[in-house]
Amino acid sequence: MKIAIVGAGLTGLRCAMELKEFVKLKVFEKNSVGGLVSSFCNGYCIEKFYHHAFRTDEELLNLIKKLGLGSKLVWKTVKVGFAKDGKIYSLSTPLEILRYPYMSIFDKFKLAMFTIRSRKKKFEEFDDIEALKALKEELGEKLLENFFIPMLNAKFGENSKQVSYAWLLARVAIRSNRKLKGEEIGYLRHGFHQMVERMCDEVEIVREGAKIKRNGKWNVNGEDFDAVVFTAPLPELGELLNKFNFPEIRYQSSVCALLSLKKSLSDVYWINVDKANFGAIIEHTNFMPFEDYGENLVYLASYTTPESNFFRLRDEEIERLFLKDLEKFGVKSEDVNWIRIFKAKFSSPIYEKGFLKKITPYKVSDGFYVAGMTSKPNYPERSMNGSLTAGKEVAEQIKRDLGL
Ligand SMILES: Cc1cc2nc3c(=O)[nH]c(=O)nc-3n(C[C@H](O)[C@H](O)[C@H](O)COP(=O)(O)OP(=O)(O)OC[C@H]3O[C@@H](n4cnc5c(N)ncnc54)[C@H](O)[C@@H]3O)c2cc1C
Repeated sequence: MKIAIVGAGLTGLRCAMELKEFVKLKVFEKNSVGGLVSSFCNGYCIEKFYHHAFRTDEELLNLIKKLGLGSKLVWKTVKVGFAKDGKIYSLSTPLEILRYPYMSIFDKFKLAMFTIRSRKKKFEEFDDIEALKALKEELGEKLLENFFIPMLNAKFGENSKQVSYAWLLARVAIRSNRKLKGEEIGYLRHGFHQMVERMCDEVEIVREGAKIKRNGKWNVNGEDFDAVVFTAPLPELGELLNKFNFPEIRYQSSVCALLSLKKSLSDVYWINVDKANFGAIIEHTNFMPFEDYGENLVYLASYTTPESNFFRLRDEEIERLFLKDLEKFGVKSEDVNWIRIFKAKFSSPIYEKGFLKKITPYKVSDGFYVAGMTSKPNYPERSMNGSLTAGKEVAEQIKRDLGL
């Protein structure tokens, strides 16, 4: 029995780990092994896009232990905040939130009550409603402008208007259980590339883009397989996308800068930013020790669409725009040791109205399986944990179907 897996991101690699003892496997990867969690190495290795874990990431945490990396998993309560008019406000503790000047006490109270109510709502019932519309009706214009719009912009860029209320409610429910001291997040000290490398053990990875054809059997790059597991973003299916009649899912793109700064920007790990070309500043060395890298490492994160002019800009142009915005935070070009731009064309589905009905099933046709960012475990947040779960679940389904 021969199976082809398309994509060596976490979904594909997790699926391969599960199937490798039962079948002959080939994993096709057209870019970097690790996919969105691949790393940039510069004496040390760090993810091209910021990554952290949560205590609830059961599949991820179990896998890390299973791969013998449990002792490298570290947890830290980090500060999160908001930047307004070039000033950074930590909003990590109840006291800091109370002191935040851009929201009235009344709005802060309304927000707290909304969070409690959200956890009790059946989010699925709100899939056909736009988040911004519902929030405006429920909470009013001010909270929308001062809180939700910057938050949604940081996550979805220009697509924030389309996001469904179901997504927002589901997301509030999983992310609002913060401790009094702030948010606790986890990281694999010295980088998630260690996990990716161990996942590749005894897996044959073919460094080619996969072209899939149907000629009685499933054929990938000229070779026949009994089954194919497709774990790449759906638009990468090309012509097969129409054949399978998938509902249209729009994706967003990520443009992230990684910078080495001469001095730290603040003591906050995650800062949502209003009115800039990036929606968030993530200071990695406010999370992991400076000594692990010997320099202050900061990500500037932005989300856009594959069709946007911004996504198509040359790296130097994006650098220029980002550095100009960073000046508002007192960072001059001479404070920057180096900057690198990383782009991902399909970095997440856009959780638009009606998205829940579009979640992709694992089995699409006889011998053809799809798993990854649009699978159920990746709702409401595509994540390492969600993709690992999808990879494991699709492998379990294949084992059942093929009697392995
Ligand atoms: C900016 C950013 C920040 C993130 N932060 C976090 C975080 O803090 N915590 C967290 O848990 N998750 C985070 N994530 C999400 C996490 O990285 C992803 O959910 C997960 O890595 C996706 O894995 P995947 O295998 O499903 O998809 P991908 O990583 O996209 O893997 C798919 C693979 O398929 C390959 N491929 C595409 N087409 C073909 C083809 N034709 N032939 C062969 N190969 C092909 C691609 O090159 C890619 O390697 C973040 C993602 C981004 C973009």
